Amino acid sequence: MAKFEQCKQSLIEKTRVWEYFLREISGESAQCMICQKVLKTSGGSTSSTHKHMKSVHSIIINNVKRSVSENPAHTSSYSIQ
Ligand SMILES: [Zn+2]
Repeated sequence: MAKFEQCKQSLIEKTRVWEYFLREISGESAQCMICQKVLKTSGGSTSSTHKHMKSVHSIIINNVKRSVSENPAHTSSYSIQ
């Protein structure tokens, strides 16, 4: 149960992160669309991209929990069935 919840969260989180980054085909790095800096995302980790956005561009990529509770109607458009 808990595992399913985590997967769901990271899926949405990734979607949001990739609004600001271009993903390399290998999946090992991502390029910032704002400053073109390339960051390592080995193992599918997006923490470096979050950190970059926050520290370099002052952009905080919204937490999943918050966006879901704020806008529940939006969630249904993602319906994965
Ligand atoms: Zn950047």
